[in-house]
Amino acid sequence: MPRLASPPLDLPDFAPGSVWLVGAGPGDPGLLTALALHALAHADVIVYDALVDRRVLALKRDGATLDYAGKRGGRPSAQQEDISLRLIRLAREGKRVLRLKGGDPFVFGRGGEEALALKHAGIPFRVVPGITAAIGGLAYAGIPATHRDVNHSFAFVSGHDSGGAVPGGVDWVALSRAAPTIVVYMAMGHLAQIATRLIEAGRRGEEPAAIVSKATMPEQRVIETTLARAAADADAAKIEAPAMLVVGPAVTLRQGIAWFDERNT
Ligand code: SAH
Repeated sequence: MPRLASPPLDLPDFAPGSVWLVGAGPGDPGLLTALALHALAHADVIVYDALVDRRVLALKRDGATLDYAGKRGGRPSAQQEDISLRLIRLAREGKRVLRLKGGDPFVFGRGGEEALALKHAGIPFRVVPGITAAIGGLAYAGIPATHRDVNHSFAFVSGHDSGGAVPGGVDWVALSRAAPTIVVYMAMGHLAQIATRLIEAGRRGEEPAAIVSKATMPEQRVIETTLARAAADADAAKIEAPAMLVVGPAVTLRQGIAWFDERNT
């Protein structure tokens, strides 16, 4: 495998006592940004979530501490407040703190809450965007997020609110009308309900849909289905997390575009 030369870029210093809130992308380490690699090379401590790929963590510098902030064996995840306090404490100890999150830190990642807590505590921080699961996952599934004459808008929605239910704050009727392509993050627990809401809101049950699981990883799987059948097909295929639902006519373009080798489909 080709080794990565240190990039001839003028990248900012990762100062001791500061926090970098960095998106690690959806899985494939090749999708890391230069700033994310730079942060991995210089961090003293890396506070990471369950979604961060192990191959990404392996890029840390020797001697950096790994600090897990995600779910452990089904136990509830560390409280958000605890994570923010941990970041503040580590920064006050003079460490270079890398807060690494799957995808993009500001897309369904609670990065905003952590940034506000750091700001409030007077800790200097930087935000490094990452490729969010919908963008990276659609690309690796061969489904264009936009395609001429198919859709001029798309929507990324959460299928899950902080209480674990289908979010009450989503206007499904407006969403159905406004966005031909809809990607639902955190949908797997409520696939049937989400499909029902979209159908009640006017989308067709026969509309093409896909479930993209472990996108950009060697275990990626894409199940092509319809909105009405999505929940049953996901069950039958024993789809594993993380996974997202994609709805809309663009899904059929995959038949001509799919390029990523999926070993299990
Ligand atoms: N901040 C992340 C999203 C966190 S929410 C981002 O920008 O991507 C977690 C949800 O993201 C999962 O429930 C799943 O729907 C989606 N997700 C994250 N990584 C994924 C992957 N590699 N493949 C499929 N879905 C993924």
